[in-house]
This record gives sequence, structure tokens and C-alpha cells, in this order.
Amino acid sequence: MKSNVALFSFLILISASFVAHSEISGEIPINPDDSLLDTKTDPCENFYQYSCGGWLAKTEIPADKPNWERGFTDIAERNKKVLKQILESFASGKRDTQNPYSKQLGDFYASCVNEDNLDKGSLKTLQLGLSRIDSITKNSLPSWLAWAHLRGVNPFFSFVPNQDLKKPENVIAEIGQAGMGLPAKDYYFDDSEQGKAVRQKYLGYISNLLSFSGMSKADSEKNATKILELETKLAKKALAPVDFRQPENLYHVLDLATLKKTAPAFDWDKYLKALTSNKIASVNIQAPVYLQEVNELLKATPLSDLKIYFKFHLINASAKGLSNRFYSEYFDFYAKTFYGLKEMSARWKRCADASDEMMGFALGRSFVNQTFAGASKDIARDMIERIEKAQGAVIEGVSWMDEKTKMEAKEKLARLVNQIGYPDNWRKYDGVQIKKGSYLSNRYELIAFNSKYELSKIGKPLNRVDWTMSPSVVNAYYEPLMNKMVFPAGILQPPFFSESYSAAANYGGIGMVMGHEISHGYDDQGRQFNGLGAMFNWWTEDSLKGFNKQASCLSKQYESYPTAGGGHVDGSLTLGEDIGDQGGLKSAYLAWKGTLKKEIIEDSAALRNEEKKFFQSFAQAWCGKDTDAFEQTRVKTDPHPPNRYRVNGALSNFSEFGKAFQCKENSRMAPKNRCVVW
Ligand SMILES: [Zn+2]
Repeated sequence: MKSNVALFSFLILISASFVAHSEISGEIPINPDDSLLDTKTDPCENFYQYSCGGWLAKTEIPADKPNWERGFTDIAERNKKVLKQILESFASGKRDTQNPYSKQLGDFYASCVNEDNLDKGSLKTLQLGLSRIDSITKNSLPSWLAWAHLRGVNPFFSFVPNQDLKKPENVIAEIGQAGMGLPAKDYYFDDSEQGKAVRQKYLGYISNLLSFSGMSKADSEKNATKILELETKLAKKALAPVDFRQPENLYHVLDLATLKKTAPAFDWDKYLKALTSNKIASVNIQAPVYLQEVNELLKATPLSDLKIYFKFHLINASAKGLSNRFYSEYFDFYAKTFYGLKEMSARWKRCADASDEMMGFALGRSFVNQTFAGASKDIARDMIERIEKAQGAVIEGVSWMDEKTKMEAKEKLARLVNQIGYPDNWRKYDGVQIKKGSYLSNRYELIAFNSKYELSKIGKPLNRVDWTMSPSVVNAYYEPLMNKMVFPAGILQPPFFSESYSAAANYGGIGMVMGHEISHGYDDQGRQFNGLGAMFNWWTEDSLKGFNKQASCLSKQYESYPTAGGGHVDGSLTLGEDIGDQGGLKSAYLAWKGTLKKEIIEDSAALRNEEKKFFQSFAQAWCGKDTDAFEQTRVKTDPHPPNRYRVNGALSNFSEFGKAFQCKENSRMAPKNRCVVW
């Protein structure tokens, strides 16, 4: 039930569920690192290759990963080792006096690493879940669906809290599309050989899961076809990833009576009663057409077929908590097909991930004590304040925006808030019951606990300081409905950041990420919200015209970048991220320049040297490799373009880069015509 975050906040990178991490990280990286350069490549032709060529040549993607990056994945690997050590000590009975949840964390981790439990305890939990489905009647279907939704099993739709886009101080319920097992709408209709092969594999996967749960092979195969047909009907009416870039498309707030009229085949009262004790006064339906299709399917599909569809989604959503027989099917289908992984990651890593995913603000208490001490928070805060100021200068400097809109843009900037490291007040997990015996049951317990915590926000005043990303996560985000940025301790690590790094390294690294998040407030989506987080048009017609012109230049530029398998970047899908990278690089650079001593500013050779370090630090924090399969999935589903384009795209649009490296005019990295939004 975290999709309110996923949907409308702008992350710095994709959060792939298979991005777990391997043993290969060694020493803490320095930045910039000249030993990684490919000096045979001209920095003015391909700066990414110049900066990362050495790293690319010596780095292989681990078999259990879809990608490997010098920044994100390597840091995540180190963070995970810290988590492991904490969890193992809790599991062995040690306690952290500052962490009241040491026991629950230790017990949960222990139930996960004990693989013997999976075949007995977890399987029994699954069987109970399946017999619960067997006993569904027309009358009890809504309360079963509520039971499932609370446990992260989402057939047909999801039900989560979200802020009202136009009145962001109101937390309301939101119904989103869900219950389709392929990653995006297109996968159901892609008629290429590859597209057909994916659907064939999906049928095999569904059928295997069903047969493992006790169904005969013939029935499993027949039912797999029925499930795919049902999901295809849903997909036909579903929104595609690019549709989510237009918040207006997703805004349909109704009162409860209207919801009942929109989908009358479903007993909403019964469902809501089983789901939450909070009063649900209004609901946003992201895709009314989709919900109407759900209504039709509920009406027209025989109950026995619905049960089959529910069973598959129960097993699919539970696979991570089941024995290897189930999990390896899940892994083979999702991880291999869409991410190009060759091997599963070690059990302890999956268990550390699960512990952090489900009790991240308990585990985070011990994590930050070990990883985010000293002056780190003060340095990061000083940086972000300077970068916010620089963003003001960037807004002031654009020629396509009129004064009236600039005033509004600066007003929005003045209201921007940020959170760094970890929450001031830690979330509580009182009442969580972790038992020995069934890991799957413990997972259900925690998912339901977290779902109820989220749902309890509906109808209550907005809590602006609430954190949704665990402190050890290597990521950052901008939340337009709160006009807020969050930088967990997890990303404030080398090569992005270190209290011992030079300013050039920190600003090129995490500074650019900070600028990127700020710029999200002014990208194609973020610009549609004001400083209070409300969807509101604060743009004059002229300024909007100017913005669109610059944005379409950027869109076309990224559209021309080739990707694995003969595709290319989808410039409309990545537009917001590309604006974030372009604007973020500039504001980080300006803020960094403001920290330089006068002697350096006045000495052009010394200045150029420092600038080179800044740009190299930026590029080298993004050195990365994707498997071809992962890159192909990314291009269809992820708004972030591949790293090489994040680096070269942003730099080629920034004239200061060409000057620092004395690039010839019209070299690749210093084109005559640049696409500059901010
Ligand atoms: Zn972003």
C-alpha cells in the first residue's frame, strides 16, 4: 500500500523489486576517481564513456542482478551488510537499548532465513489462504477482497490513501488499477515475436503456480488461459505508464454514493467495513473506465472463475514468502524475463530486504546510528540550502518565463521543505506479533500492519513530516503534493556524498541529486502543482507556451537515443526526469561555484581544474550497466532513461561543461543547439 508514494513522487532512480545486491563491493569509493577514466575517448564526444570507460571495462553485472552501478547498487550492497549485521545480532538475542523493536526484527529475520520453515509453515499459511478463497460466496466476496488488499494481494484494484490533488491537506482514499501480472498494459497487446513469447511464458508461469498449489496439470493450463483473458480485458481499459504523467487524467474525486453508482455490482459498504474503521467520505478513482470494466467483470464472470483469478494472485503475491519451488518460478518469470537476472540473490539478502521493506523505521533506528553520524547532516543541510537558493537564480534567469509566473515559481520555492537522513520522530510498531513457524504468516502480519497504518490516515489531517522511504534506502524523492524533498541516510554515502569529500565531489554527486529533486517541482508534472501541493495552474499562457517549447526540444533529444534490442528512449515518458537532470545539474553547479574561494575563481586554470572534478564526480556517480532485458523493460515502464543518457544528455545541454573541457563547437557534448528548460 505504498503506491501513493510510487505514483506521484519523483524518485531519482527506478526502484526495481529485483534490485538486490551482491558481494562484489569492496572499498569505499573515492570521487572523482581518475583510475576509472577511459582516456582514449574524447570527453567532448562521449563524456560518460570517458568518465566510466575504465569502470565499465572491469565491471560485470552480478548474476543475481538486473544492473550494477557504481553509485546506487554498490552503496545498497554496503548498506545491506550493515543491516545484516544488525539483524543477525537481534536474531541471536542481542538487543539495542535504543531500539524497542530489536526482538520483533530479530524474530522476523530468523523466520525468513530458516528455509526449513518455508515448506511446512509457509505452505500451511498459503493453504489456509486458498481454502479461504474456496469458501467465498457472492455475499462474502467484498470482505475477502478487503482481507486480500490488506495483505498486499491486489486483484482488480488497489485501495490506498492519497492526498486530494486539488485540496492536498485532505487525505482521501484512492482506487487504482491493479491485478494484472504483466508489468504494463502494452505487454498484453504487443504482437511482436518477443511480445507473444512473453505471454506464452506468463501462461506457463500461472499454470505452474496453480499446479504447485494442488490443482491438476490440465486444470491449471485451462485456468491459466482464463486468467490471461480476464487480465487482458482489464488491460484494455487500463492506463499506460505515460498516461500517469498527466495528473488531470487521474483526478476523479467522488463521494461514496457516486462510487456506488459507478460500480454498482460491488458491495462497497461491506468491503469498506472489512477494510478500515476510518470513515470514507470521498474517493479518487484514477481510471473510471477501468473501474467500470471491473464492475462488468464482477457481474459477468462466474464465481468459480473469479476464484481461480484470486488464487493465482494470492500465490503470486505470496511467492516471496514461500519455499524455493514457488519462489524459483516467480524468479524465473519476473527476474529473468524482465530484468535479465541469472541467479537468485542469497537468502540473507532477501531477508534483509524484506525486514527493511516491512519494518524499515524500526531497523532504521539502528542503521543510522552506524552510518550517518558526525557532521554529515549539517553538511547536507548546508548544501541543500545553497542549491535551493541557486534554483531561485535559475528561475530568475530563464528568458521564456514572464515576471508573473516567475513570482509564482519563486513563491513555490520558498515553501519547499526538505527532510534529510531520518525522521525526527520514529514510527512505532507496537502490537506487531511475530511468531515462529511461518514466514509467510509473519509477512502477512507486517503487510497488514503497514496497510492499516496507511489507511488510518484517511480523513485525518495531513501529516507533513511522515516519512515513506526507509532511512537505509539508496534513493531520494520529491513529493509534489507536499512540495517536499526527502534524502534518506541511505543515499548520503560515497560516491554521492561523504563528509570527507571535496565540495566538487559532493556537489557533483549528491548536489546534482538534490538539484534534480528540486527541479521536479518544475517539470512537466510538478509544474502543475503549487507551493502548497495543490494541483493548480499558476502559469500564464505565454510562460506555458515557452515551457512547452523547451520541453518538446528535450523530449525529441532523448527520443533519439538508442536502447537495447533496437528500441529508443521514450522521450515523453522520461521528460520529467530529463528536466530534473538538466535543471538539477545547473543548480548544483551554481551552488557549488558559490562555495569556491576567490583565489580559485580568479585563476582560470585552477578553476577549470575544479570544474572538471565537479563534472567527473557527477558522471562517475552514475557509472552503471543494465542487462539488455532490464533496459528493454525500463524503456517501457520506467520514467528514468539509462544512465549513459542521464549523464551525456544533461551535460550536452549545459554550456559550462563544454567550456570546462574546451570542447569544439558542435562536438557531441557541446552542440550548437541545446535543449534547456531551466
Ligand atoms: Zn527524478
